[in-house]
Amino acid sequence: MTMISFYPGPSRVYDQIPAYVKAAFQAGLLSANHRSKPFMDLSMTTIGLLHKKLAIPKTYRIFFVSSATECWEIIAQSLIRKSSLHVFNGAFGEKWFDYTKRLRPHAEGLRFDPESTVDVSFSTKEAELICITQNETSNGTQVSSALLRKIRKLHPKEIIAVDATSSMAGINLDFRSADVWFASVQKCFGLPSGLALLICSPRAIARANEIGEYEHYNSLSYLNTMMAKWQTTYTPNILGIYLLMCTLKQRPNLSTIHKQTLSRYKKWEAFVKKHNQLQFLIANPAVRSFTVMCLYGPPKRIKQLKTSAENSGFLLGSGYGVLKEMTFRVANFPALRQKEISALMAFLRRALSAS
Ligand SMILES: *Cc1c(COP(=O)(O)O)cnc(C)c1O
Repeated sequence: MTMISFYPGPSRVYDQIPAYVKAAFQAGLLSANHRSKPFMDLSMTTIGLLHKKLAIPKTYRIFFVSSATECWEIIAQSLIRKSSLHVFNGAFGEKWFDYTKRLRPHAEGLRFDPESTVDVSFSTKEAELICITQNETSNGTQVSSALLRKIRKLHPKEIIAVDATSSMAGINLDFRSADVWFASVQKCFGLPSGLALLICSPRAIARANEIGEYEHYNSLSYLNTMMAKWQTTYTPNILGIYLLMCTLKQRPNLSTIHKQTLSRYKKWEAFVKKHNQLQFLIANPAVRSFTVMCLYGPPKRIKQLKTSAENSGFLLGSGYGVLKEMTFRVANFPALRQKEISALMAFLRRALSAS
């Protein structure tokens, strides 16, 4: 039995992946040098497709890196001289704060209630950079585009960095409302892990150059110098980049995907409403994520549901961190097929009515 992964990352990959891997092998790309023309062509084409398919402004630079975690470190080392402000409500935002503190001990944290929208009028004090997790994968909340635009407006001087790891390529993002965006590809991109994208506005690049930090292989200014030649500072995940290119070609534009994500989310919302043994962890629909659903219940029942789902061919996401026992998570990522979602709903309907 093949398992359908509803885990919110790594998650279901597109069905075409094995064929694309074979094509990469046959094209000789798997042994191509990362300074060669075939690689530079691949890099240029993929970046062009990212701009087009995800509606990333032309003036924003895109870099290939390895993980979202690496992006946390790149931002800390290359874009923060002294202090950043981390506005978060869950485990990923907090982890970003923790990683940053190790490199920049003056980083400040501002925790907000997961049931509430962020109060955007926070004071940044000494912070030169604001860190926001757009989609908090651990509790299934999101910060809306409207709020991000408000934050931009109220804090025009600071560089704003956004972790969109579990939403980028799944929903529309207003890239102009922030300076730095990043995501790894094992979530909404429907790809195997080991590749991430770091997207920077002209202001962010200017800030990096002004700070002039060149101490690391992945210093932002150094990445930027190499990207002028469509290259990376290290041997990148060439296969991952190739798979990204192929899947971007096959994908509709993001606005179409956004509509699908939203309509699937609405179906889940209606489903949960109908089953009173199941609840969203977050009661306030205004802050709920469209791409990661975090469902809540008594620990015994959650455990039982996860096990029987697995026996029926559905891998559900475990709760994250302190939410491990009382929640499970369901990805609403574009690579999942409608019939798989319907099958999971049918399974849950049966399981819930049986108990
Ligand atoms: C998954 C995830 C990460 C970590 O991604 P890696 O690619 O494992 O580094 C960071 N932030 C968020 C919001 C995530 O969902």
